[in-house]
Amino acid sequence: MPKRRAIPGWQLCLVLGAVAAGVYAMLPAGGWWHPIAYAVDGLTCITIVLAAIRRYRPDQPSTWYTFAAGLGVWLIGTVIDRTTLGAPWTHLSTLLLLVGYPLLCHALIGLIRGRVRSHDRTAGIDAGIVATSLALLFWALIAEEVALPWTQLVIAAGDIALFMLISLLVTTPGARTVSYRLLLGALALTGFSDVLIMTMPFRPGDLADTALVLGNAFVAAATLHPSMRQLTVPLEHPPAFVRPRLALLTVAILLAPAVSIYQGATGRIAQNWLPLGVGSIVLFLLVSARMAGLVIRVEHQARRLSVLVNQDPLTGVANRRRWDDALAGAMARAARTGEPLVVALLDLDHFKRFNDTHGHRAGDDLLSGAATAWSTGLRDGDLLARYGGEEFCVLLTGRTVAEAALLMERLQALTPNGQTFSAGLTPWDGRQTAQELLEHADRLLYEGKHTGRGRVVTDRATSAA
Ligand code: GH3
Ligand code: MG
Ligand code: MG
Repeated sequence: MPKRRAIPGWQLCLVLGAVAAGVYAMLPAGGWWHPIAYAVDGLTCITIVLAAIRRYRPDQPSTWYTFAAGLGVWLIGTVIDRTTLGAPWTHLSTLLLLVGYPLLCHALIGLIRGRVRSHDRTAGIDAGIVATSLALLFWALIAEEVALPWTQLVIAAGDIALFMLISLLVTTPGARTVSYRLLLGALALTGFSDVLIMTMPFRPGDLADTALVLGNAFVAAATLHPSMRQLTVPLEHPPAFVRPRLALLTVAILLAPAVSIYQGATGRIAQNWLPLGVGSIVLFLLVSARMAGLVIRVEHQARRLSVLVNQDPLTGVANRRRWDDALAGAMARAARTGEPLVVALLDLDHFKRFNDTHGHRAGDDLLSGAATAWSTGLRDGDLLARYGGEEFCVLLTGRTVAEAALLMERLQALTPNGQTFSAGLTPWDGRQTAQELLEHADRLLYEGKHTGRGRVVTDRATSAA
């Protein structure tokens, strides 16, 4: 009988979470049903989060533990609040809610920083722009209308900070994995619930409350998915120009004139609000477009510069700088994965004689022709670089020395104008430095030169052209 595949934990968690939310919504109103069910659901999810951190060992465990602590503090605060025991319990629940904000903000900052691994001022400035516009919106829509107690103001400040951080997280380049999407789903459910609670009278088990229960399941599923490890890992090639972030900033700055138009339209501002508001919107849009143009140009130049500094101008293959970087990266990867790594150093035979006979120009053509021909014999993950003069090097991953030697023979056959090369081929032993590895390949190469040229020399054998 074929073995049935088990449902992954994160999917099970979502299904059970949805069932739990359905049951929660149908619990009888009043009494202790809802607080108890809410506490059990929340505790289960936090336990799952803690177990997942221990299982997957993400590289920033403190971020995850802070996240779990924030959820825990909020859970206790909410449960106390729902039990409606009166003072001093209500003060304790408010205090716990307040303590939860810095914990969750700290966790979100950890996630954002983990995804970019940069500590420049840009993120701080972006945060300032979004937070200011949200605060302005809050003032215009709520705070101006009703005098709020200080606890409500602090909670609003916490909400603004959380919302600002979530918008930065969404617009930070990084792996959009299942875990990432589930976490955003949880945050969206919490935000949805918050908006409902702010705008409608709250009743335990209503839509706002049930959304929180479902949100817990999303959090637990997000940590149960193996991709939770990649949440705090930056992209290998992050884009210089982040369109979603620029769109976010544009919307944020447009909120200010939008607020004045709203105030004018509702009679709070008497004069000139329309031309000032519309004029500001047009001006801000033009400035954003100008900024986008600048950033796009910088990105274009950065790409061109990266090609220029990494490419050999004559042959078009990678240059020595790119080789050094790639070899260091490949060695680090091979050390982690145990994948075999082989390097070869090639040197065209009697190239000086070729130059002397056919001219320097023909020599140049041979160099670029040979590089192009050899490139066609390589796989995607292989790297051919010009080491200098008529010397080239090849980096091969995931191949044995025997396979690599066969490949070198194929490259030998591809060399144009009936020319040959000599090569030294050696596997990385896992301990050598990059310099030691190349020195060894160089020794093998010169063995090839001294034993007749046109051959590929490995540690044990020599194969002639
Ligand atoms: P061997 O088989 O021992 O390697 O002999 P060889 O003649 O290839 O080696 P040698 O080191 O004596 O000469 C290398 C020549 O490569 C000398 C140099 O002028 C030529 N060379 C180096 N860079 C370039 C280049 O960019 N273009 C051209 N046309 N020649 C170059
Ligand atoms: Mg040479
Ligand atoms: Mg040579």
